[in-house]
Amino acid sequence: MEATQPLIGAIEAGGTKFIAALARADGTIVARTRIPTDTPATCFPALAAFFREASAAHSAIAAFGVASFGPIDIDPQSPAYGTFTTTPKPGWQGARFHDVLGQFDAPIVVDTDVNGACLGEWLKGAGQGCRTVAYTTIGTGIGTGVVSNGRSLMGFTHFESGHIKPPHDPARDPFPGMCPYHGGCLEGLASGPAILKRWGKSLDQLAGDAAAIDLVAGYIAHLAASLVLLHMPDRLIFGGGVMKAPGLVEAVRRQTESLLAGYVRHPRLDAGLERYIVTPGLGDDAGITGAIALGVGALR
Ligand code: ZN
Repeated sequence: MEATQPLIGAIEAGGTKFIAALARADGTIVARTRIPTDTPATCFPALAAFFREASAAHSAIAAFGVASFGPIDIDPQSPAYGTFTTTPKPGWQGARFHDVLGQFDAPIVVDTDVNGACLGEWLKGAGQGCRTVAYTTIGTGIGTGVVSNGRSLMGFTHFESGHIKPPHDPARDPFPGMCPYHGGCLEGLASGPAILKRWGKSLDQLAGDAAAIDLVAGYIAHLAASLVLLHMPDRLIFGGGVMKAPGLVEAVRRQTESLLAGYVRHPRLDAGLERYIVTPGLGDDAGITGAIALGVGALR
């Protein structure tokens, strides 16, 4: 083994907190911290201070990998690469990772939080051995990352799977949805805040309520079936706080299978979808694992 492996600066940037780590290219973390997201005016200087101190204690940083909340420009060809765009988070619109990380004179790769988590799961978690894998978070927001052959997919920008509109029967579910843009899109109907606003409780607290679980599962299954039809992934991973509700993943499997109605047949789609639709293998470490992998990618 080399005496001095290059060090990667990794950031998992979430809406509430940033996890920052200094890691070896093999994924071993040598320093780690947690910084409140708050505003860039407080978060960015703390981030720079962490990396300065950690690299002084270990060695220079060879590359940065960032897996971030958004919307954010993730197109390496764009002049605004790494800049938050239409995020509703106060203070973050226009903030750019290069402004804080540029001082370290190392290449910077910026991708979305879900693409990062998907990459982490593909490398070391529930997506191992897959050619194509989709990772969806159902939490404060909803989003999907798709990794194919070890690379995350995008179009002119990142995907926005949380804003598809599932069928919504107002007789069964009078809640109109709460997305400021679309009302009853998936995020407006099935995110953690939507569940709380509809029932005054989290889905965890409603776990005994089969009708509530089935309703939310139906919305999520609409996305799951769409992901199958659009990307034919080898596996679907569903994480995020809402997915921890007892009985939810089972209900999503049942309803996804029913929506697909036997049309897509492949050994990957096992009867009951127990191997096909799974929860994350890395738990809460998927994001930082992916951020390290993004940084390693920048070395190439
Ligand atoms: Zn929406």
